[in-house]
Amino acid sequence: MVNTSPVTAVEISDNSKVGKISITGTSQHSCPPECPLRGKGCYAEVGRANLLTSRLNDSMVTDPVAIARAEAEAIRKLSGRRMLRLHVVGDCYVEEGVKILAEAAAEHTAKKGMPVFTYTHGHKTSREAWGGISVLRSCETMSQVQKAHDDGFAAAMVVESHESDTAYMKDGFKIIPCPQQTGKAANCAQCKLCSRDKALHAQKGVIAPGWQDRRQRMAPALSAPSGRANGRRPPRKSSCSFQAAILESAALWAEATP
Ligand code: SF4
Repeated sequence: MVNTSPVTAVEISDNSKVGKISITGTSQHSCPPECPLRGKGCYAEVGRANLLTSRLNDSMVTDPVAIARAEAEAIRKLSGRRMLRLHVVGDCYVEEGVKILAEAAAEHTAKKGMPVFTYTHGHKTSREAWGGISVLRSCETMSQVQKAHDDGFAAAMVVESHESDTAYMKDGFKIIPCPQQTGKAANCAQCKLCSRDKALHAQKGVIAPGWQDRRQRMAPALSAPSGRANGRRPPRKSSCSFQAAILESAALWAEATP
């Protein structure tokens, strides 16, 4: 453990999936202990994404509320000119921390009207605490999707592969394949679906990234330190290798998460 920040915030993401929006990441101490992916193959623990995760995890700050406070400070330093995606790695699973983030997010939106969105495996926080943040509860099963809906949350659920490129019904919910993956949108900045959780909730929409699609796209990206992977531009290099590693890892992780 070292005296470093458990938080990172990037004004402009250099990532083809999310587009040129702002992002934050926090250490895995901010993740719910019961998350089924924590320590068991979470994307943030894989390949170069793990560079960022490990650096954040090294921080002596491990209390989830303290992490939320640090993240809120980082959010306040952003210009507010761009849509903001919270937690390309990390989460917030305690009500007090969520409220702290909601305040900072409201200030971000107040600057230029840009939305803030995220996903949470914290199934015990209330929708009310997240305030104006568009938050999708990350689910693994349709029964969790139903519970999320009953709790007032829209949901996101990774599926093995897409049954269709267009939305389809399952157990009364509208499963929406991520438009970036199906080629209907260039990136999150253009799509914005996940920044509209209230509309998704009202329509019983579930954002569904395809696991196989992502795995196929991630594999070459993770194994190719330079050059093009799947025709995508490689992550930007910086004169500061440490900062470059952070940006690169954040970009890869953002690509891997719904
Ligand atoms: S559905 Fe969500 S994750 Fe997919 S492109 Fe749209 S905003 Fe991004």
